[in-house]
Amino acid sequence: MAAKTKKPLRKGLCVKCTGLCCRYFALPLDTPEDWGDYDDIRWFLCHEDITVFVEEGDWYLNVKNKCKYLSEKGHHCDIYDKRPKICRGYEIDTCDFTSNEYDHELYFKDDHQMEEYMKIKFGDKVLDKLERKKKRKKKRKK
Ligand code: SF4
Ligand code: SF4
Repeated sequence: MAAKTKKPLRKGLCVKCTGLCCRYFALPLDTPEDWGDYDDIRWFLCHEDITVFVEEGDWYLNVKNKCKYLSEKGHHCDIYDKRPKICRGYEIDTCDFTSNEYDHELYFKDDHQMEEYMKIKFGDKVLDKLERKKKRKKKRKK
């Protein structure tokens, strides 16, 4: 007979939550400086379930992808006792469940939004640069 595993306890407000903080992760990005950097971010945003936000001047890539150890039944952590330190340091006072407002200076849901932003920042023809580059390459090959 398989040994019974103890269900991890969910305490306080976490009991009422579906584990919102375990359904994404965010990675810091280098602050974009030129249109090429912004275009790289536009490329990130071409992918599904990716958003980009800026908070206190810092840029982040947000990946909406559930942790595989979040149980869908009880919304508890299946590896609670050995969960990574980043999970242990998560503050409930400012978490996704208790504070639904973020101080995002900028928030991009997809590549179209970034394209519009790039047009404001660098001019309407910002993406024409890509075509011009391609043409220059072709000429060099001839
Ligand atoms: S820390 Fe906040 S977001 Fe995470 S499970 Fe608990 S209540 Fe939900
Ligand atoms: S390891 Fe556990 S606490 Fe950490 S993100 Fe996954 S389910 Fe959440």
